[in-house]
Amino acid sequence: MSVSQLAREIKESPTLRLNEEARILKEKGDPVIHLGIGEPKNRAPITAILGSAAKLHTGDVKYTPTDGLPSLKKAIIRYMEEHYDRLVAPENIIVSTGAKQCIYNVLFTIVDPQDEVILLAPYWVSYPEIVKMVYGIPVIVTPEDGTFHPRLEDIEKVVTSYTKAIIINSPNNPSGVIYSEEFTAEIVKFCESKGIYIILDDIYQTLVFDGKRAPIAYKYTDKDLENSKLIVVNGVSKIYGMTGFRIGWSVAPRKLVEVMINIQSQTTSNASVISQAAAEGALTGVQSVIESLRLTIQNNRDVMMQELQTFNGIRVTKPAGTFYCLPDFRAYSNDSIELTEFLLKKALVVTVPGAAFGMEGHLRLSYAGEVSDITEGIERIKWALDPESPNEIYIGDRKLIRDWL
Ligand code: PMP
Repeated sequence: MSVSQLAREIKESPTLRLNEEARILKEKGDPVIHLGIGEPKNRAPITAILGSAAKLHTGDVKYTPTDGLPSLKKAIIRYMEEHYDRLVAPENIIVSTGAKQCIYNVLFTIVDPQDEVILLAPYWVSYPEIVKMVYGIPVIVTPEDGTFHPRLEDIEKVVTSYTKAIIINSPNNPSGVIYSEEFTAEIVKFCESKGIYIILDDIYQTLVFDGKRAPIAYKYTDKDLENSKLIVVNGVSKIYGMTGFRIGWSVAPRKLVEVMINIQSQTTSNASVISQAAAEGALTGVQSVIESLRLTIQNNRDVMMQELQTFNGIRVTKPAGTFYCLPDFRAYSNDSIELTEFLLKKALVVTVPGAAFGMEGHLRLSYAGEVSDITEGIERIKWALDPESPNEIYIGDRKLIRDWL
């Protein structure tokens, strides 16, 4: 069968593949614990459910403007004012089918073939693939000091005349790190002086812990939005735990938004009107839902840290946000893909290989699920890897004996 060269280069999403493997094992009745999961367990906010149900009840389920319902865009404008202290116009906004489509639209709009897009390791798995899908070249910058925090001097070294954009994701998937105010100020000044776009993937913006807040890049530009190089991507998937509704939005200079609308009008048209109504319901409803989700996840993070602290040989950076951490498992294996397969087979625990995020030797562990999954999941991983842990364990009602250490 003939498949295009470009299509052949696009890797499948390892997280979605692992979800599928776990689903099949679960269906067979295996007691799988999913520490790979990229979504919280909460129910959608009631105002989101009522908003979408009301729309459905009218029976009037049709196309909307490509860039989104005007009433949803109004709610996004309020969100921008409240969380970014920026007044933006409806023409600065396009609503899309998840933040993923936003990133695709943005990159399609600005990247010419062979243009380079800087990605900061550890990076979200989909960035390199989306860059390739628009014929761009991902350029990876890895912190040399073993931290998960980028440094401007390392970024400066890779900038060429082909550098078109940099993607900043803070709070960061997979490390949970929030980039510093100093770095945010520096990178905005640097990119603006060089004419490089800064794509801010703020999808975890409010999932922050211990009173910390993610820096707002707009604070560090003196340009108005129309002349700025900043492009914000956000959505309801993580902050309201509404992953299945598939609603994200981009905020950018009008001229870019016009092009994004053209692109989207030729691919998916508008995001589903039912989902747009749900997103509007979430954004205009009681905002305490954000705080209660944040508190649940913060508590889960604490449990995860406690469990990992008693894990021989594991080093972990305490996450300041998101629902992931990225512990270093090199004491046990340098091959994270092999390690995730081993843990799924022996301990029935789903983890995600650090290699997929540009951090070999690490595993991404999610604490978005139940507390009991975190404690039992880590106990199983210890049992599978650490010779000092008891060599018997119950998984479901089966007693297993470790015979490989
Ligand atoms: N950016 C990051 C960093 C993410 O982790 C995700 C989801 N895992 C997305 C974007 C995509 O979000 P959405 O579900 O809204 O497409």
